Amino acid sequence: MSDDCLFCRIAAGEIPTDVVARGDDWVAFRDIHPQAPTHVLIVPHRHVASIDDLHADDAPLAGTLIAVAAEVAREEGLAERGYRLVFNVGEGAGQSVHHIHLHLLGGRGFSWPPG
Ligand code: AMP
Repeated sequence: MSDDCLFCRIAAGEIPTDVVARGDDWVAFRDIHPQAPTHVLIVPHRHVASIDDLHADDAPLAGTLIAVAAEVAREEGLAERGYRLVFNVGEGAGQSVHHIHLHLLGGRGFSWPPG
């Protein structure tokens, strides 16, 4: 845990958020500035700044985030219409919080290519 990391502190329960699901080593909570009717962030407890810091032996961590997103999407009723999963990697791609998080967005249509 990094004391000056917002998502470490949320994962540790030090900062209140709207939690939708929680596991032993991850938490899923609603984004404070939602970009879609449903916007949930899936966050591992382990502090890793970016997807760019992952290696092959981190596959369980990455897999957990994706599988949890699929479960939350089904529970939120998003699966039939479809939804979008996003990792912003680096500031040029819009990453503002430097602790890995997977965005789950749903409840509206999405264009391609993304902006
Ligand atoms: P990114 O820009 O990909 O790093 O995403 C960071 C996300 O965290 C943004 O969508 C923010 O709206 C969201 N966010 C920042 N602070 C909080 C907070 N305290 N609770 C919930 N979501 C937050």
